[in-house]
Amino acid sequence: MSTIILVTGGTGLVGKAIEYVIENEPAGSRFGKRPNEKWIFASSSEADLRDPVQTRKLYEKYQPTHVIHLAALVGGLFKNMKYKLTFLRENILINDNVLHASYEHKAQKLISCLSTCVFPDKVEYPLTELNIHNGPPHESNFGYAHAKRMVDVQNHAYKEEFGCNFTSAIPTNVFGPHDNYDLEDSHVIPGLIHKCYLAKKNNTPFVVSGTGKPLRQFIYSRDLAKLFIWQLREYDDVEPVILSGNKICPRPLSCIFNVVGEDEEVSIKEVADAIVKAVGFQGSYTFDTSRADGQYRKPASNKKLLSLIGDFKFTPFEEALNESVKWFLENYNNARI
Ligand code: NDP
Repeated sequence: MSTIILVTGGTGLVGKAIEYVIENEPAGSRFGKRPNEKWIFASSSEADLRDPVQTRKLYEKYQPTHVIHLAALVGGLFKNMKYKLTFLRENILINDNVLHASYEHKAQKLISCLSTCVFPDKVEYPLTELNIHNGPPHESNFGYAHAKRMVDVQNHAYKEEFGCNFTSAIPTNVFGPHDNYDLEDSHVIPGLIHKCYLAKKNNTPFVVSGTGKPLRQFIYSRDLAKLFIWQLREYDDVEPVILSGNKICPRPLSCIFNVVGEDEEVSIKEVADAIVKAVGFQGSYTFDTSRADGQYRKPASNKKLLSLIGDFKFTPFEEALNESVKWFLENYNNARI
């Protein structure tokens, strides 16, 4: 019997990375395409998943046996703060339609993509899969966060009432080819790559907002893609898994022996340094300390992932960044900028 895997949001950063891995890993390998598999990468033009009728038609057309649900209204901090109801409502509609269509069409498995925004604002660190619902999320993006949280609630309800094999993944900040490089509305890495590129091109200073001190965790989209494929094939539990893990250059031993997850944190300055190197920028490079830093750190533990996946090699941070910069430079005219 063939396996039909529908990837919603298949044309975005993460969807394109899954497509790349499926096409480029050796066929039949742990992450490569298997002979009985058919992969479908759907975009919003094929079906607007806010609409239940279009969602149902998509499922009727492809009859997916498995679903990786990535489609979402996604945006940077500014957009999240300004359009809280839109983020809440559109993501609730998309998620409800996809989950219910997966139930009605008897999909054998559904993995939905959450985000570390789901976690409570005031919480003990590192974040773990156990404390998603232990307090309200940060108020800046509560619309997006609550819509994503609700997927975990729905997954449990679908499992308890109908026995559905629904689960979720919680990635940290993702970056890679096909990212959104818009200067106003992008995440930190693509935004800085674009800014640095323009500084080099126009011979102007490269100014990074804030002190550069905050620490963040990143995951390369093509590593994340492999983790989704692992979850699809090898993980059968309703409870979510935090997907995190790029390791940067060696950090002090005191840091490495800390709680799991902390050695994967990267400062914004380390990110900016690596971007300057990858872009080949040699002009003036400064930090605008009058701009807000945001939260100093919010580490998430990938202990559960590492305990389950066995042997897995993350792409070193600099290598992943170089590949992302290379993609951006080669695709400047077609990229989301
Ligand atoms: P992108 O913005 O790159 O892609 C979004 C995808 O969703 C696109 O394929 C888009 O289709 C599709 N989409 C949006 N609205 C609709 C709709 N109404 N109907 C159907 N499809 C729709 O997002 P990412 O790849 O970055 O994100 C994928 C998932 O990962 C999301 O669920 C996001 O919340 C989550 N995530 C992302 C992080 C990140 O750092 N990027 C971090 C943590 C979680 P089209 O191309 O046609 O517009």
